Amino acid sequence: MSERLINDLPFAQSPVLPKTIEGSAQIQFRCHKDIDCFNACCKNIDISLTPYDVVRLKKRLGMTSGEFLVKYTFPYEIERDGIAGIKLKPVEDGTACQFMTDEGCSVYEDRPTSCRYYPVALLSLRRQDEFTDRTAYALVQESHCHGHQEDRTLTVDEYRKEQGVEEYDDYGRGWRQLILKKQSSGPTVGRPSKRSLQLFFMACYDVDQFREFVKSPSFEDVYEIDQATKDKLYTDDVELMLFGQRFLAQVMFGDEFIKVRADAYERRAAKKSEREARMDEIVEKLGPLEPSAQPDDDKYKYVDD
Ligand code: SF4
Ligand code: SF4
Repeated sequence: MSERLINDLPFAQSPVLPKTIEGSAQIQFRCHKDIDCFNACCKNIDISLTPYDVVRLKKRLGMTSGEFLVKYTFPYEIERDGIAGIKLKPVEDGTACQFMTDEGCSVYEDRPTSCRYYPVALLSLRRQDEFTDRTAYALVQESHCHGHQEDRTLTVDEYRKEQGVEEYDDYGRGWRQLILKKQSSGPTVGRPSKRSLQLFFMACYDVDQFREFVKSPSFEDVYEIDQATKDKLYTDDVELMLFGQRFLAQVMFGDEFIKVRADAYERRAAKKSEREARMDEIVEKLGPLEPSAQPDDDKYKYVDD
C-alpha cells in the first residue's frame, strides 16, 4: 500500500539514508561551537517553516507575521498547483541564512523545527487507507557536517528532547495532518480554488492577517464563536494558529469544528446573487468590455469575496 510523506529536511538535496529509524534508534552525533565545521550547515540553506516556527520567530523579532513573511521568507508549492509552504529566505545574493552570525544562530532559542532536528529528519507518513499519520525519522549525513565523527551516542528521542523539538512537534501536528490529508485525498477534493489557497496561506502563516479575518463581520456572519474563545483568539497567536488549522480542516474537508450559524450559507448565497445581479446590471449599462489579462501569480494575496 502506498504511503505519502512530508518531511522537514533542512537541505533539499540531503543524502538522507533511505532507511527510516525509530525514536529509540541510537545515533552518533554532537554539534558544538568549537567544531571545525561550525556554521557550515547555515551557509547554504533550504529550510521549510511550520506555522509555529513563524509564531516563534515573529515574536522573537517583534514583528507582525506580514513583516516577517516579506523580510525572511518566500512561498513555494508543496504540491503542484496546490497548497503553499514557506521557506527561509537567504541573504541577498547569497545562500546563507539571514540569522547566521560568526557566533552562531542569532535566534537560537527560537530556531525553526528543521534546524532543531538536524541531522535527523522528521518524516510524517500516512497510508492512503488510514486517517492518522505515523512518525518516523531518518538520518541525514552530509560530508560538510563533522558532528557524526564526534564521540557521543544517544537515541533520536534523547536528541529530540535535548533540542526542544517536542513542543514544536505538538504544535506542528495539525498543519502536517492537513497537508497529508490533502495529498492523500488527491483529485477527490478537486483542484483547490485560488480563494482556498489564499485562505490556507493566511491561516497557516500570516497569523496577524488571519486575526483580522476572524474579527471581520463576514466571519462573524457565518461562524458562531463564544466570547471566551474570541478573547483567546484575539490575543494569543498560538491559540489562533491552532484554531486556523481546525478552520482549514472544516473548509477543506468538511470536518465540523466551528459552529456555523443557522441559515448562514443561505444568507451569503442571497447576498452573492444580489451582488451578481447588480454587476449584471452595470455590465449591461456599460456595453461590451475589452478582455483583460488576469495575472495568475496572486494566489498568496488575499481577496475579499
Ligand atoms: S535559523 Fe539559525 S540554525 Fe537555522 S539555518 Fe538560520 S542560523 Fe542556522
Ligand atoms: S556539526 Fe553539523 S550541525 Fe553542527 S555546525 Fe557542523 S555542520 Fe552544522
